[in-house]
Amino acid sequence: MQTPLIWNPILRQHLVNAPHRMNRREGASSCAFCADITEGKVGPETQVWLHPNDFPPLQPPVGEAYVVIYNRDHHRTFTQLSVDEVNAVTHLWRDLYCDLASRYPTVMIFENSGEAIGQTQHHPHGQAFGVSIIPPTLERELETVVQDEAAVAGFPFCRVAVELAGEVYEVASNGTWQAFLPPYVRYPYETHLYPHRHVANLAGMQDNELHDFAALLLRVVHGYNALYDGAMAPMPYLLGIHQLADERFHLHVEILAIGRAPGKLKYAASSETLWGLWTNDSSPAQKAQELHDAIARIDQ
Ligand SMILES: [Zn+2]
Ligand SMILES: [Zn+2]
Repeated sequence: MQTPLIWNPILRQHLVNAPHRMNRREGASSCAFCADITEGKVGPETQVWLHPNDFPPLQPPVGEAYVVIYNRDHHRTFTQLSVDEVNAVTHLWRDLYCDLASRYPTVMIFENSGEAIGQTQHHPHGQAFGVSIIPPTLERELETVVQDEAAVAGFPFCRVAVELAGEVYEVASNGTWQAFLPPYVRYPYETHLYPHRHVANLAGMQDNELHDFAALLLRVVHGYNALYDGAMAPMPYLLGIHQLADERFHLHVEILAIGRAPGKLKYAASSETLWGLWTNDSSPAQKAQELHDAIARIDQ
């Protein structure tokens, strides 16, 4: 089989070519994840589990692909899960990171939420890839870390977190995590979650940090759905955990919320997709305040 990693000699980056995925199951009436329960592949006590991606874009030794099942109940949505239930997910993410990081330099843990951005299975779930290369965005972030080290400028993510903390860009925080809507977001309600502590990846996360991570994640997504009195719910979003084995890296989570106003979506159109030049037609400080206030209302 031809390698699915194709090198673009002009942009000097890889893309994944996976033609077999064109015929993957979409909108099927039976749920492959519920079948894990009915077929006895997971026990009655199991709340969260991994399901091999039945149409993997990557296969060993190039990579591996999994579906992370968030709950046994097909009809629960992420926002209907309790903090403890999401905490079980963050613990599974840590186990998954430790396993995949033993074989691959990159572990991508992510979620596409909402039909507007291509979610085809309704059972609450996310995905994960182990990949034998470092994707362009992480490579760029790592370059920043290396450049700042050479310039004796400290760790960039730690610096940014300190700069944004307690300012207009902070939307929520708890004992070990902070959530920001930085001035450089691409989507109006894009939110970045940082652990206070400099931790490179999930393997370094302590149990209480995973619990706080679960709690903050839920509050931010609930906040999205409370914007404009619920007129933007359910907010479609892309969620990704950025992490690397390199101890200079600082784990963080990016949530690219696709809604830009009630009934309206932000599209990555020509400027963004053809040139990589994003335009954000909103005031990040104002959007941060809106999200901050929406979360504060839920907290009451
Ligand atoms: Zn199901
Ligand atoms: Zn840091």
